[in-house]
Amino acid sequence: MIYDYAIIGAGPAGSTIARLIDKTNNVIILDRRNLDQNEKWLSSKCCGGLIAPAAQKVLEKLELKIPNSVLVSPQLNTVKTIDSKIKKQNIYKKNYINIDREKYDRWMASIIPERVKKEYSAVFKGFKYENNIYEVFYYKDGETKKIKTNNIIGADGSISKVRSLIYPDEDRAVDKYIAMQKWYKSSDKIDHYLAVFNNNVTDFYSWMIPKGEYLVLGTAIKAKENIKANEKFVVLENFLEEKGFNLDGLIKKEGAFITRPTRSSNIKLGFENKFLIGEAAGFISPSSAEGFSYAFKSAIILADAINNKKEILKKYRRKAVSIKINILYKNIKSKIMYSYLLRKIIMELKIFAK
Ligand SMILES: Cc1cc2nc3c(=O)[nH]c(=O)nc-3n(C[C@H](O)[C@H](O)[C@H](O)COP(=O)(O)OP(=O)(O)OC[C@H]3O[C@@H](n4cnc5c(N)ncnc54)[C@H](O)[C@@H]3O)c2cc1C
Repeated sequence: MIYDYAIIGAGPAGSTIARLIDKTNNVIILDRRNLDQNEKWLSSKCCGGLIAPAAQKVLEKLELKIPNSVLVSPQLNTVKTIDSKIKKQNIYKKNYINIDREKYDRWMASIIPERVKKEYSAVFKGFKYENNIYEVFYYKDGETKKIKTNNIIGADGSISKVRSLIYPDEDRAVDKYIAMQKWYKSSDKIDHYLAVFNNNVTDFYSWMIPKGEYLVLGTAIKAKENIKANEKFVVLENFLEEKGFNLDGLIKKEGAFITRPTRSSNIKLGFENKFLIGEAAGFISPSSAEGFSYAFKSAIILADAINNKKEILKKYRRKAVSIKINILYKNIKSKIMYSYLLRKIIMELKIFAK
């Protein structure tokens, strides 16, 4: 059996494209996690789990309604900021859907059609190109297995193995951030999304999100040599405790990498019969680390190009221009947000809310 498309990664990008590629194609999707319903998932993705308005719009277009079982209370419609340099707190309205990320990924995987072959608990290892066919290797049940495919779609997230094989000479370290989150069973009850700006912690930002009975505190710290991310996190905790927050009752810690796309060369869409979507392509907001909207949009436009059959990569590249422009705009916004003086002016004008 030779598949038309092998999708590596069943996160928001991979599961979306698996649903949208039409039935004229034989598709297989691989993920190292076991995303089958009713089976215990051992490694949850480190994520704030907020669906921002841009992503909500795409879900609406896709006619997807998030089941209630995936939602987490409280639903959020207010953002507040705390700034180590600016005394005045900024408060603005913005609606976020608050979700349980683990349940969300499982739900997205559960609506991939039957016609798509699912291979879970399968760790992608690499591919070989021979006789115009790709052999894709993965590790599952204690052995290396392989499948054959005409095309590969890398949807394997920020540390994409597919991307590193397509672009072996690329150095992504310079834009890498270590993202960390801690979950507390705090007695504090907050009903908003809190954005924290403190240059002693990070040149990016930190966030606090209520999730049911927990408070999630997160930050993203530039992965420089000798950086002590844990110590920076303690600075963040101390800063917030001084502001009156109760961060007792630590439940769990989690981490991930973010590659912040600050240059257009950070975005890579693939070449020949190999494609990248979602965070593997570099699609994530450099100003807020919002990634769902980009994961969905890139999956939609690549699926459209695939379903149209001809000049797939060319069409994908052409349609991805609007996403690239959006990221460029977010870069400009991020230059403003992360410069103290400009931030002060902008807070007065309430531009963050947009
Ligand atoms: C701390 C943090 C907080 C965030 N908060 C938000 C938020 O609140 N809202 C928002 O919109 N975005 C947020 N993001 C960004 C968002 O999580 C990502 O942009 C989004 O998940 C990207 O989707 P994706 O499908 O491209 O990649 P991923 O969600 O990373 O999915 C990749 C998939 O590939 C699989 N995989 C990876 N490697 C392999 C391999 N070798 N073999 C097999 N399978 C593999 C993984 O198991 C995973 O299922 C956050 C990111 C971080 C780090």
